[in-house]
Formats: sequence, structure tokens, C-alpha cells
Amino acid sequence: MRAPGPGTSCIFCGLIRRESPAHVVYEDDRTLAFLDLFPLSRGHTLVVPKRHVDRITELPREDYSAMLGAVVEVCRRIERLSRHYNVGVNQGELAGQIVFHLHFHIIPRYENDSPFSRTRPRSRLSEAEAAEVLRELASGNSA
Ligand code: ZN
Repeated sequence: MRAPGPGTSCIFCGLIRRESPAHVVYEDDRTLAFLDLFPLSRGHTLVVPKRHVDRITELPREDYSAMLGAVVEVCRRIERLSRHYNVGVNQGELAGQIVFHLHFHIIPRYENDSPFSRTRPRSRLSEAEAAEVLRELASGNSA
């Protein structure tokens, strides 16, 4: 069972409610996109529905369009950093899901990188790095 009330103890719901700070890349009334705090590569961004659902199969149909639209918009912005990126959803613990609020990863790829290496240390995003990446990603509509 989940905590009482949808998302009350969920860290992503906390970001959506601005109870904790997020490095917001994009936001609309149904979705929020923010920098991953432990990025696999420079510009690693997560896109979440504001409605708390654990799984993509629980996302209500009325959110499909906003969800995909936000993913595409963030991809356009990520292309300012690199034309190469991975878009993915980890669904279930065995697939590497850590936060049980649906999220799409958009992971920019660079020359000679290895973001999925298990031996690569994941360091926490610094405020300085976040500010610099947001200057490139968070402004304007790329549509
Ligand atoms: Zn949540």
C-alpha cells in the first residue's frame, strides 16, 4: 500500500509542490521537468506528470498528450547540449526504478562518455553546475 494520500511521502511530489527545491527545466499545468540531482551525464533531466502515478500503465489517458509533449519539448532543449541522447523509463525495481513516481529520463550523450557504467561514480549536481546547465536549457520555448 502507498502512503496515505497520493504522493504524500513522494520526493517528486515534494518537488512539484515546491516543498523542496528543484532545478526546473520546463513546467506546464500537468508536467514538470527538472535536472536529476545525481546526473548520469551533463544535462540529465527527468520529466514527471504532476499527478502521482507509479507506473506508465497507471497514467490516465488525458495526461498522455501533455506527458509526451513535455518529453519532446525537453528533448528539443537537450539538443542545445547534444544531438545524441537516451530517453527512457525504468519501471520496477528490477529495471532500476528508484523513485516510484513515473519519470522519463532524458540523458544527453557526449563523445566517449559511458553514463551507464556501473563503476562510474555518480556525484551530486553542484549548484554552480545546475545554474550553468539551466542557463542553456531552461529558457524559451523551442517549439
Ligand atoms: Zn509522487
